[in-house]
Amino acid sequence: MSDSTAGAKSTTLLIWLWRNYLHRHVGWLMVALLFMTLEGSMLGALSYMMQPMFDDIFIGGDTGAITGVALAVMAIFVLRAASGVTQQVVLTRISQRTAASLRLDLLARAMRQDGAFHQAHPPGFLIQRVQTDVNAINDVWRAVITGAGRDAVSLLALMAVAISVDWRWTAITLIGVPVLFLPVALIQRFVRSQARSARDLGAGLATRLDEIFHGIVPIKLNGLERYQQRQYADKTDQFVGSEIRAAFGTAAIPGLIDVMAGVGFMAVLIYGGGEIVSGEKTVGQFMSFFTAMGLTFEPVRRLGSISGLWQVAAAAIERIKELMDAPIRLTSPAKPVAAPKGLPQITLKDVSLSYGTAPALRGLTLTAEPGKTTALVGASGAGKSTIYNLLTRLVDPQAGRVAVGGVDVRDMDLAALRGLFSVVSQDALLFDETLRENILLGRTDVSEAQLKKVLDAAHVSDFLPNLSNGLDTRVGPRGSALSGGQRQRVVIARALLRDTPILLLDEATSALDAQSEKVVQAALDRLSGGRTTLVIAHRLSTIRNADKIVVMDRGRAVDEGTHEELLARGGIYADLYRLQFQDGKMLVDARGRPVPAATPVAEKAERQGWLRRAVRKLVS
Ligand code: ADP
Ligand code: MG
Repeated sequence: MSDSTAGAKSTTLLIWLWRNYLHRHVGWLMVALLFMTLEGSMLGALSYMMQPMFDDIFIGGDTGAITGVALAVMAIFVLRAASGVTQQVVLTRISQRTAASLRLDLLARAMRQDGAFHQAHPPGFLIQRVQTDVNAINDVWRAVITGAGRDAVSLLALMAVAISVDWRWTAITLIGVPVLFLPVALIQRFVRSQARSARDLGAGLATRLDEIFHGIVPIKLNGLERYQQRQYADKTDQFVGSEIRAAFGTAAIPGLIDVMAGVGFMAVLIYGGGEIVSGEKTVGQFMSFFTAMGLTFEPVRRLGSISGLWQVAAAAIERIKELMDAPIRLTSPAKPVAAPKGLPQITLKDVSLSYGTAPALRGLTLTAEPGKTTALVGASGAGKSTIYNLLTRLVDPQAGRVAVGGVDVRDMDLAALRGLFSVVSQDALLFDETLRENILLGRTDVSEAQLKKVLDAAHVSDFLPNLSNGLDTRVGPRGSALSGGQRQRVVIARALLRDTPILLLDEATSALDAQSEKVVQAALDRLSGGRTTLVIAHRLSTIRNADKIVVMDRGRAVDEGTHEELLARGGIYADLYRLQFQDGKMLVDARGRPVPAATPVAEKAERQGWLRRAVRKLVS
């Protein structure tokens, strides 16, 4: 990238920041600038005071002027302090507010993105964007504004004093400045590239940590601690390297300015020293000039470091802007059709969908009748879960029509559509809040009696007495303080409370032990009553109980019917059934769990019937 396009890009970014965020604070910015100007001009005033101090008092011996000059110098410092504090506070207020709204916008934006986006942007990456990059932006525009306000004013005031003393001296001091341009431009480019790779590496580190801490149990069980440590250490090394190189570049620019200043001073001393000795200039004038030039360095150095800081921040703004500008593919239509009332039928017609290039569904057609339970059966990867993603519009199909109650899902408002479904899947999503908060999810319209009913129906009441604070017990990160079965029951309670017309169950009990499975299944049976239910399960009992079984194979629905019909037909279902449930060595009990091969099939079937009846009794 050439410097001019980098410059143009930086300007675009700054304009973007201004338009979207900073402009809201224009009033306060003015206040900050005003106080900065005041603070900056005080340096000029201070250097100006050197002349009367030396010429009138020290050399002229005018003791009467001492009090006046002393008071003036003190006033200058007090004003500088007061204006400095004020502008800092005002600026912090603006920058924190700006950062906060930028973070909220990023969060809102990221939450609206679809699955493909989140696969391309893992959590660690997004966390880095929202937290760290926003800070980098904050640092830089503060520095830019402070630079433009205070430092530039300081510089102007000091230059005015220096020139008023002797313009030739001033010119000589600054003679080296043009020489700086090229090296500074080169260093800026270097800083920018290093800063960008530091950002990327930082995001990589955050992703790594996120995966480690989420996967802490499997990491321990597989003895992967050292492996993870090494991986993290390698990435950290690269990150540290980039940061150091970026810091070197950022510091090198003010360093160069220092060297030029040294040369300038030397030149002035050599050139101007004689004029003072010969009496052409007074000591006071020289002191005034020297102080002005000396005080120039700090603002100049700070202004010099802005360009480095800006390079760092530009990398951050670019990333943030990328996130902000990433198109949202799944949106509500402009004129949404009302969601269907009552118990809806679900239809998918000739639906095709690929994630990337791999087809997941290939012309799928199926119907789920209102108020009935439809089971989806098929090998892993057949596309069962994908159907749920389509119905709830986590993805859109490339071809075909997905309709709920006769309305195409793409014609409905997204929130209204999703409000039709309750999804219970293998992994229950709980938040690190209390049990009550996890069930209510912000709802305030639920009475205690209503809540109690739901807790009973979902069998949450069963384990409440075991918790230290009952409903007000915190469940830990991702609900880790509860067992798998307990978590599922919490999710079922949520679903009961939502009371949606459609229920989607995706292997809801597959991660559970036999004991909790029984309870969860009972709660699920109760939940599915009076709803259009789709169920993906690998337990025979669940499948057999369904009103209709749809057999899926490689992205298509290849057969449907009742358990008996399908078995009699002897297609894929019969194969699956044999493989999964009846393969000589692996018989299963009523919950689809393997039982010893010695158990006669007839006896097993008998037990199934008995258990089913028992569970029904329990439920009703
Ligand atoms: P099932 O639930 O029947 O096991 P899925 O619907 O989850 O199958 O997946 C169907 C196919 O789509 C599989 O081949 C799977 O690898 C692929 N797939 C599912 N989700 C994604 C995704 N987010 N990205 C890429 N491929 C996916
Ligand atoms: Mg699945």
